[in-house]
Amino acid sequence: MDELKVLVVEDSKVTMRVLCNYLGRMGITPYTAETGALAIEVYHREQPDIILLDAQLPDIDGFDVALKIRAMEKIEDWTAIIFLTSMTKDEDLERGIEVGGDDYLLKPISEVVLKAKLKAMLRLVEMQRTLVHVTEQLNEANGKLLKLSATDGLTGIANRRMYDEMAIREWRRCERMKKPLALVMIDVDKFKLFNDQYGHQAGDECLKAVAAQVGKAAPRATDLAARYGGEEFVLVLGETDTDGAKWIANRLRQQVSDLNIPHHATESRHVTISCGVASVVPNNNHSLEVLLKSADYALYQAKESGRDQVGSGVYGVIEKQLF
Ligand code: GH3
Ligand code: MG
Ligand code: MG
Ligand code: MG
Repeated sequence: MDELKVLVVEDSKVTMRVLCNYLGRMGITPYTAETGALAIEVYHREQPDIILLDAQLPDIDGFDVALKIRAMEKIEDWTAIIFLTSMTKDEDLERGIEVGGDDYLLKPISEVVLKAKLKAMLRLVEMQRTLVHVTEQLNEANGKLLKLSATDGLTGIANRRMYDEMAIREWRRCERMKKPLALVMIDVDKFKLFNDQYGHQAGDECLKAVAAQVGKAAPRATDLAARYGGEEFVLVLGETDTDGAKWIANRLRQQVSDLNIPHHATESRHVTISCGVASVVPNNNHSLEVLLKSADYALYQAKESGRDQVGSGVYGVIEKQLF
């Protein structure tokens, strides 16, 4: 049992010596405290697994010490508390359990009983440790799952699901603040031809490189950059008007262009993107769906006007004209 950290709290020097001897024979060198105040200090410093706690101490009584420790401890560092008591009244036993004690030992303490009770407590301590370990693993796995469910597998930026969730949240936030919300729709130019010429794998690499720029384009905490699907991305920009969004979109367009990824089918001979921007101050008469369609229509116009540019839409203008 030498892996156990035991704290003995006892003001009687004789009892303390006896207990230390017993524990020594079990291979345990305990921490000791002779007062309640010292007990709390040592508990704080050493985080023992088990405390043998005298019910009657010269300063704070053992029950109050137990209460204080229970109030301080976190669920993951639970400490077993065994009261040492010469009192035989049932109410004292009841009180001991009530304030957070787990068991009790009657004085004079028998070495055999002490050993048996410590063994039982060791079992509980080990169960608790396993539980904490399993809970930690579970929390970690949950965190990973949450991240997986929110990110796009290929590019590592937020996915469509995340867009759906965050965009409406941002819509409502801007509605409350009476500030404009802007969307930027982004589409890689002639990407089908890129795949045809360089292969699907090169296509994937290109999407990753573009996504990395998209991810950096919207740096505010409330901004979101997401893969909308295929070779399309979207930026959600809170508190941003059309001009602000156009500026961000143009900078992104330039950054993608600067990647200089060869693409022979485009006019510039490298990979470019087209963007469509729309912005509106959200209210009851407007909708996120129409805002998205407006940005999409602006994107369509950017494509029609020759690609590698930013189209600026007007909220509500969503009709595609036939050319
Ligand atoms: P435009 O300039 O008008 O946007 O032309 P485009 O060729 O980019 O447009 P289109 O929508 O016809 O083609 C999109 C292509 O994107 C088709 C599809 O094969 C490719 N694509 C979509 N998702 C992925 C992906 O995850 N990886 C790769 N490599 N290609 C993808
Ligand atoms: Mg005492
Ligand atoms: Mg497309
Ligand atoms: Mg495209």
